[in-house]
Amino acid sequence: MHSSNHVDVLIIGAGLSGIGAACHLTRDAPQHSFLVLERRARIGGTWDLFRYPGVRSDSDMYTLGYKFRPWRGTKVLADGPSIRAYIQDTADEYGVTERIRFQRKVVSASWCTDDGLWTVEVADEVTGDAETYTSRFLIGSTGYYNYDAGYRPDFEGEERFAGQVVHPQQWPEDLEYAGKRVVVIGSGATAITLVPEMAKTAAHVTMLQRSPTYVLAVPETDPVAAVLTRFRVPAPVTYKLGRVRNIALQRGVYDLSRHRPALARAMMLKAAGLQLGPKVDLSHFTPTYDPWDERLCVVPNGDLFRSLRKGSASVVTDHIETFTEGGIRLRSGEEIPADIVVTATGLEVQLVGGVRVEVDGRPVETRDRVIYKGVMIDGVPNAMVILGYTNASWTLKADLASEYFCRLLNHMDRKGHTRVVAQAGPQDRSTESAMGSALQSGYIKRADGVMPRQGTRKPWKVLDNYYRDAIALRHGAVADATLQFSDQPVAASPQVRRRAEQAG
Ligand SMILES: Cc1cc2nc3c(=O)[nH]c(=O)nc-3n(C[C@H](O)[C@H](O)[C@H](O)COP(=O)(O)OP(=O)(O)OC[C@H]3O[C@@H](n4cnc5c(N)ncnc54)[C@H](O)[C@@H]3O)c2cc1C
Repeated sequence: MHSSNHVDVLIIGAGLSGIGAACHLTRDAPQHSFLVLERRARIGGTWDLFRYPGVRSDSDMYTLGYKFRPWRGTKVLADGPSIRAYIQDTADEYGVTERIRFQRKVVSASWCTDDGLWTVEVADEVTGDAETYTSRFLIGSTGYYNYDAGYRPDFEGEERFAGQVVHPQQWPEDLEYAGKRVVVIGSGATAITLVPEMAKTAAHVTMLQRSPTYVLAVPETDPVAAVLTRFRVPAPVTYKLGRVRNIALQRGVYDLSRHRPALARAMMLKAAGLQLGPKVDLSHFTPTYDPWDERLCVVPNGDLFRSLRKGSASVVTDHIETFTEGGIRLRSGEEIPADIVVTATGLEVQLVGGVRVEVDGRPVETRDRVIYKGVMIDGVPNAMVILGYTNASWTLKADLASEYFCRLLNHMDRKGHTRVVAQAGPQDRSTESAMGSALQSGYIKRADGVMPRQGTRKPWKVLDNYYRDAIALRHGAVADATLQFSDQPVAASPQVRRRAEQAG
């Protein structure tokens, strides 16, 4: 093993969260060495993987961007390649890129309490060779879904279909859809992005949904940011202002939906109705559930509604009976002809990137655990897992988690602590998923088998509230009654031991 395979902090994943964590370390705890292990050949995670036409964020960039580095555009939602470039530029600016080992898939991570070290087994994705890394701390920033495959239900009669079936997670680079009849199965963020984009050149695009989703139009360009930029207000100031406003807006819409669901619903349906006009049936955008029981979807300048009004796209709410040779037959008996079917059916939720995690030889089942302040899995020492918000921009929480982790490291340095663990008791765990019972989206229900449990009380309760998390993670005391610290010396890393053996 090469001597540089031992570091203070190993970060798994070079997406928004992993790069953010690495930048925070260089800013706030620079005395610690670190490496990032990344399966893919490039930085960006989600924003590198997803390449379907029109791929973009569905939350605003002032809150999806890092707190410490302004997003300089004035568009409210950004396209995938621009987000990837922003993550890459951030990594370059903070000297993080050279500390990434690409095409390394982490297979297992084992903590040894006696040694005070993590041993991480890695497969080289190109050669298949095995490598071993050791570290004092581990950060799991692997996102929340399986990169190898998306969620893809089997449909009756699929084998008969003469056209092409495509999943957005594995978009064929050369897919030719101009002039073709396309059916997009789904009603989530991916489907509503794909439909207007493909409708620009396809013969026709049908969005086929089992049930409606709340879809809101947002301006393509932030009018306030555009004015401030015109008056040459420095980008960091514009960013900060936009961020404060958008955090409050996101929270306001969420709180209104939770506390006054009838009012929120009436407002959202009214807005959708105005966008759709008289020709498109509002029932396709009238969900049976309340706003924020499932994720809200947004469309820039109402692009989806525009393509429906124009007739280049249409929406059908029904169930699939079977694929036929020429398309899809619905329960109603209607048949939709198709040359291409896009299964925008979602993600398969996976935690810690499929890594086998062990503590002193015992496997960690995430489903049985609760999470301390939403960042540390109970009973797993010297480790943090980064899970962003589902009801606001992911990065808001990822940034807070990394800030907290640096505070924890600095606290441990000052006190001479070498190990930290948050240990929950049975009374701290509920049976509910940490993603909350509020969100009823399909992928969240499917994720129940792997998601940690919701805590019954502080500090185990996942709050999903930026303001309250900021108090707990940014301002709260690091040492508390729950965290257990130890000062037992850390064993020398395996390569140091080997060198000593060779010398002696
Ligand atoms: C299409 C799409 C659109 C989205 N839009 C938004 C949005 O608008 N707003 C929002 O807040 N959220 C959005 N999300 C959620 C999104 O995933 C987060 O915004 C954010 O990108 C997550 O960053 P991450 O770094 O935590 O995870 P990811 O982006 O998933 O990155 C994880 C990284 O870890 C690597 N990795 C995983 N397992 C291993 C392993 N075993 N070994 C080594 N490396 C590993 C992966 O290769 C990847 O590079 C979207 C998600 C999708 C799929």
